[in-house]
Amino acid sequence: MKNKEMNNNNIDLNEELDGYVKIDQYNKVHVERIADHYVDILEALGEDPKREGLIKTPERVAKALQYLTHGYDIDGAEVLRSAMFEEEYSQMVVVKDIEVYSMCEHHMLPFFGKAHIAYIPNGHIVGLSKIPRVVDAFARRLQVQERLTNEIRDCIQDTLKPAGVAVVIECKHMCMAMRGVQKQNSVTTTSAFTGAFQNDVTRSEFLRLITASLD
Ligand SMILES: [Zn+2]
Repeated sequence: MKNKEMNNNNIDLNEELDGYVKIDQYNKVHVERIADHYVDILEALGEDPKREGLIKTPERVAKALQYLTHGYDIDGAEVLRSAMFEEEYSQMVVVKDIEVYSMCEHHMLPFFGKAHIAYIPNGHIVGLSKIPRVVDAFARRLQVQERLTNEIRDCIQDTLKPAGVAVVIECKHMCMAMRGVQKQNSVTTTSAFTGAFQNDVTRSEFLRLITASLD
């Protein structure tokens, strides 16, 4: 059996980087600590944490939270560097409709939707599956959509050093839909561009490609 590289949350990084293995290993100390607090939270809500349906809830929530924030343990730049190849291709590469699941840092409620990402290679391309991995690295944390958008852009720009990067993210925020203004169907769109995408023609081409459908 090969040596496994474990990070401090006991998540197997090698398996995680392949993208196929569901993480089901948790840091016991963190799970216990978070779960203890959730017993108090249930009581504060007027619930009985000892009733059957809730008895394992604090532990489940603790594990869910660890999974939902596992991006803290992924180095987006490292993900890209693991699959960069020299290539002369210099047309726009677009990966669209990447699923995004994140947590708003103001309410710790989910926001989710899609990311559309493009880059124009400048000597190097990257394995296509790595782009969604970079999205996960930054989305699986406590976030705001604006910073998420910029962090993805900067990671790709600084690591791959392409002629330009474009990131558009469209998300629904549960903190808007379920509470507060209760706007169930509103979608927040953010975008960030570098290099060639600051040029109107290139940016329009990208926007046309992400709104075009294949049928
Ligand atoms: Zn919020």
